[in-house]
Amino acid sequence: MASEKQIVTTKLTGRNTDCPHCGRNLNAASIASENPRAAPSQGDFSVCFYCRTFLRFGADRYELGTEAEYKTVEPATREFAERFLKAIHIRKVE
Ligand SMILES: [Zn+2]
Repeated sequence: MASEKQIVTTKLTGRNTDCPHCGRNLNAASIASENPRAAPSQGDFSVCFYCRTFLRFGADRYELGTEAEYKTVEPATREFAERFLKAIHIRKVE
């Protein structure tokens, strides 16, 4: 039986969670996972909720991701993230 992915939101503590591009605080991260206890770890990628900049989880803070790194993200994952951000944007505007 295939397990289903769900949106898991993790509160980020013990690190500087300011976006290195826009400076807004990102105190939580959401991912689609089959593991309900999933949490980001160093080297994972993220996108800023506010400015949509591509980010990477560093040891204790976010770092700016590069265009080359973005191209290494699995296409299905990039597509999911872009749909998720678009849906959030639509809800914020309405
Ligand atoms: Zn930002």
